[in-house]
Order: sequence, then C-alpha cells, then structure tokens
Amino acid sequence: MKIVVAKEVREGETRVAMVPELVGKLTSLGYELVVEPGAGVSALWSDEEYVEAGATVSEDAMVDAALVVSVQPLESRTVRRLGTGTATLSFLPPGQSLDLVVDMRVCGITSFSLELVPRISRSQSMDALSSQALVSGYRCAIVAAGLLRRFFPLNMTSAGTVRPAEVVVLGAGVAGLQAIATCHRLGAVVRGYDVRAASAEEIRSVGAQAIELDLETLEGTGGYAREMTEDRAQRQRELLTPYIANADALITTAAVPGRAAPLLVTAQMVEQMKAGSVVVDLAAESGGNVEGSEAGKVVRVGNAQVWGGANVAAQMPAPASRLFAQNIVNLVSLMTHEGAFAPDFDDEIVSGSCVTRDGQVWHEPTRILLEGTDE
Ligand code: NAD
Repeated sequence: MKIVVAKEVREGETRVAMVPELVGKLTSLGYELVVEPGAGVSALWSDEEYVEAGATVSEDAMVDAALVVSVQPLESRTVRRLGTGTATLSFLPPGQSLDLVVDMRVCGITSFSLELVPRISRSQSMDALSSQALVSGYRCAIVAAGLLRRFFPLNMTSAGTVRPAEVVVLGAGVAGLQAIATCHRLGAVVRGYDVRAASAEEIRSVGAQAIELDLETLEGTGGYAREMTEDRAQRQRELLTPYIANADALITTAAVPGRAAPLLVTAQMVEQMKAGSVVVDLAAESGGNVEGSEAGKVVRVGNAQVWGGANVAAQMPAPASRLFAQNIVNLVSLMTHEGAFAPDFDDEIVSGSCVTRDGQVWHEPTRILLEGTDE
C-alpha cells in the first residue's frame, strides 16, 4: 500500500510531513513511500535523500495512494483528484475548513485531523499540536532574546555588573513552558502566568517564578483552559500591569481551543513598558494576546517593538518536520494492521481524529455546523 508525502503548497509553509530519517519506519510496516518532487527542499532535504532512505520520488505520486500525509490540509483541487477511500492525515481545523470538508465528504475521502487527536496519555507521541508548540515556544524565546538590545544573563565583569533581563511569559501550556525554559537557560529572570490551577507548579518546574493573582483558576476539559468572562479578563489585565511594566521582554502564548486568542495585554499596558522593550505574541495569527500585534510583522507600540508570530514552527523547518514526522509514524503505526492501512474506528484516537469517512461527516460538531441538528 502506498503512502504519499505531499509537497506543501501553502505560502510560508516550509515544513514537510515526513523526513528521510523516518522513511524506514514506514517501509518496515509494509508501505511503499512515494514523495512529491521537492517536498523536503524548504526543510533542507533533497529528493535524493528520500530515495537513499528507501522512498521513490514521482510527479504522479497521488495516483492510487492509500494515505496522503501533509502538514497543511490538501487543497480542494488535489482532494478531487484522489480516489474514493483514500485517507488523508494532516492539520485540518474542520470548523475553519468547511468547504474542504464538504469536498472530502463528496469525494469519499477518509480524513484525519491532527488538531482532533484526543489528549490522552496514550496519544502524547502522536500529538502534533504539542510537538509544534514546543518548537514555537523555543523560537519565541530566541526571537525575544534577539530583538532585545540587552543581555539576557547576569554578567559580573571588571567593568561592572550587568543585570539580567526580566522576562514575563503569559500562557504556560506547551509553548509557554518551552519559552520559559529557554529564557531561563539563557539566564533571564523569568516570571510566568497561566489561568489553569496546575500551571504554577509547572512554571516553577522549568525555572520561573509563578505569578499568582487573586483570581479564580479556569480549568476546561482535556487539560485546556476555559474562556474568561470580560470582568475577569479586565481584572487579570489590571493585576498583570505592574509585572508587564517592569519587564524587558514579554512573551504571550495563551490560547483557548476553538476560540479567538484571549486579549491579555492592551496597548495601554504595552505603553507602560520601558524604552527598548520587546513583546513577542505567538497568538497574533488567531486574534492576538496583545492589542496591536500583527501576524508576520514587527510593529511599534509605545516604547516597545511588538513581534507578531505567523506559522512560527515553520521558522525552524528541520526540527519541526522531524518531530511532526515522528507523530505521523506513531499515528500510522496505530492505524496499521497486518501490513495494511486499516484504521480501527473502535479506537478512540482513530475515531476522535476522523473528520470524514464513507461519504459522511464523521466529526459530529462539524456535521452539525454543516447540516444542522437532526431535530
Ligand atoms: P493551548 O495552546 O490551548 O493554550 C496555551 C496556554 O494558554 C494554556 O496553558 C492555557 O491555560 C493558557 N491560557 C488560556 N487563556 C489564558 C489566559 N486568559 N491567561 C493566561 N493563560 C491562558 O494549550 P496547550 O499548550 O496545547 O496545552 C494545555 C494543557 O494541555 C497543558 O497543561 C498541557 O500539559 C496539556 N497537554 C496534554 C496532552 C496530553 O495529555 N496528551 C498533550 C498536550 C498538552
């Protein structure tokens, strides 16, 4: 059976869903691996390296594919060329891809969304949201250190003592914790805040001080946060203002699944930061944690340079692709039985991540969005 590695076509997408190093993992499961020409080039892997690893490279890769793997969802025109029953595995936020979901349903594609992989301990090695958040969190810390025209670490020299940079990180999920750990390793004094009850301990465990505010915690389902009321959001902003005014660098990574990013920092709060301060907003693409941030741009707000993240994990294409490809290998292994691609829909990871199947929309919230309720 044939697994195809698609060449990414979305602008700015530099990652690839499979790396030469892991091709052998899939061929040893019994698959033939076919790569679209140039699929790995932007992540610095040549077609020859895939061939040396045991794959073939072909313009007609998609023909007779059992499974197509990609980072971004396939385009509709590609989906329409696939045979009925072909499976796809990629990021695929179904609520934001309704036209594509309809095309997949009509074409009889079995589609799996990496965003929908249930967050249970057994699925951790398949969780591409986490692996890519790790990359983005690291990158945010490095960007902050690079933009700041100061040292991160304390320096005691014969010419005097240079104090360490003060960094505040808001949102301490996978990306935020990685940003904290990286800033800490670079020697900055780091403070972190998150709305979840478990986060203070997690923040301390990676070397930062936990900012503890006199506010209720907001625990949602599946380890995620809940949305704040506007009253609580306002109070949180007031209480965080002195911490932000005191910071040399602010990194924001807060998200609530299925919603726009919460506004944690107003322009007025940024205006209170010192001259030369730096703000890195990882959430800029999904609405922004910081008022005024723009995805893919550096803008000035008051005294600060505000960097807005846009597909941040793709800024480190090789390690991001390597981690992504391992997630793919683990998911494909789960869906393989006796050398064939045969997903078991009684498995909650398989079932939970499926969007369309057998000409139906399998993911219930998406089906309701498209077709309404049965009543
Ligand atoms: P995420 O990307 O959805 O959100 C990032 C962080 O923003 C979260 O920690 C969230 O609590 C925080 N946040 C939301 N609103 C906020 C606000 N108003 N102010 C401050 N912070 C706010 O989350 P994530 O990084 O994907 O992970 C969230 C949790 O899920 C973590 O505890 C993580 O350990 C857990 N997790 C579990 C699994 C698993 O069990 N398989 C996998 C990955 C993550």
